[in-house]
Amino acid sequence: MIKMVKKKIDKKIEKIEDVECKDRLCPKHGDRKLKMRGRTFEGVVIRKRNTRVTIQFERMLKLPKYERYEKRKTKIHARLPDCMKNDVAIGDLIQITETRPISKMIHFVVVKVVKKVEAKI
Ligand SMILES: [Zn+2]
Repeated sequence: MIKMVKKKIDKKIEKIEDVECKDRLCPKHGDRKLKMRGRTFEGVVIRKRNTRVTIQFERMLKLPKYERYEKRKTKIHARLPDCMKNDVAIGDLIQITETRPISKMIHFVVVKVVKKVEAKI
């Protein structure tokens, strides 16, 4: 009987941690704290998955031959920490910062939401 009670208490503690942030790779709370260094970008969220978002932004490319500029789009994958999952939605303007490579495609992490997407009427 005593063991049963102990298990219940353990579960409760786990739940409390769940609410805060369980993500080990979170730059704010994780025990394997991600060090942020390198470049920072702002872009619009075009895709959202469990731990990853894809952002897109436009840059200008100079065409010397025509003395004009061309718009090019850049897509970057970034890690979305657990504690920000509910804050980020598709269409939001967010800021990401470079970190060490987390996986083959991901070496950026979401820092903050710059501008929320306007609610559809
Ligand atoms: Zn967190």
